Amino acid sequence: MSDDIDVLVHEVGPRDGLQSIETIFPTQAKLEWIRSQAAAGIPQIQVGSFVRPDLLPQMADSADVVKEAVKIPGLIVSALVPNLKGAQNAIAAGAHQLGVVMSVSEAHNKSNITRSVEESLEEFRKIVEYRIDVESDRTTVISGGLATSFGCTISGLVPVRDVMKRAEQLLARGADRLSVADTVGFANPRQVKDLFDELFRTVGDNIPVGAHFHDTRGLGLANAFAAVEAGVRELDSCLGGLGGCPYAPGASGNIVTEDLVFMLEAMGMKTGVDLDALLQTRELMEGYLKGEPTQGTFHKAGPPLGFVPATIVA
Ligand SMILES: [Zn+2]
Repeated sequence: MSDDIDVLVHEVGPRDGLQSIETIFPTQAKLEWIRSQAAAGIPQIQVGSFVRPDLLPQMADSADVVKEAVKIPGLIVSALVPNLKGAQNAIAAGAHQLGVVMSVSEAHNKSNITRSVEESLEEFRKIVEYRIDVESDRTTVISGGLATSFGCTISGLVPVRDVMKRAEQLLARGADRLSVADTVGFANPRQVKDLFDELFRTVGDNIPVGAHFHDTRGLGLANAFAAVEAGVRELDSCLGGLGGCPYAPGASGNIVTEDLVFMLEAMGMKTGVDLDALLQTRELMEGYLKGEPTQGTFHKAGPPLGFVPATIVA
């Protein structure tokens, strides 16, 4: 992570946002969004998902988007991959970071990616092995995702010890970092603080740990704050809170990037992001939507009188 920022805001809208709405953004529209947001100072963007195109037509152009996005100076380009095949395609396209999907909840993993958790761990091992085979310099970062870490729509409560066990298993198989996700919007701030405290006790402070929250029940930013309090320094978010929750029709999606950046900057934590430029990116993105709702409050109210962001915009 760059020394100039305190918290890395990882925009996931072009993946998590777009995959759950009706509008299919043309490749050029995705790239306009990505370029504009990178210019606003967002350091890392998840630009696509290497799933089968017939399952997610919105993501069918992910390889093309990655190939163009990696040309943007300084931007870390990440992509989601469900399996070895997806990882091979993402590495071939030049992605800097792969987010490998796995649920802590056995039932959710089976229904989401039709595998047992053990099978997912084995697939993860193969992905790391493949990366080692093709890259002597091991530059592609492989992130182990722990979906449903705070609860599951099928089995309800997910024990913290299960999250710790899966985290250790991912690290043992070569994960460079971990991403802990409240995939279905069940988490509360106390739970978030406790889980990350326990995670840092379990895996130590040297492994980068990211957090992914949905605002399904209005606790998204409170959960992000709790994660930061526990020491998390990488947060996923989505411009305009685009997208929804497949398990809760009508609910809002990921936490809103511009609201998150405002919160962090107001608390004195540098994100490297220019809020005015970010709002322009939001408008650009909204111009391509066909009736899908967006979320957020900062764009309506603007900064409070006397607001001084932690990031000095040149
Ligand atoms: Zn998500």
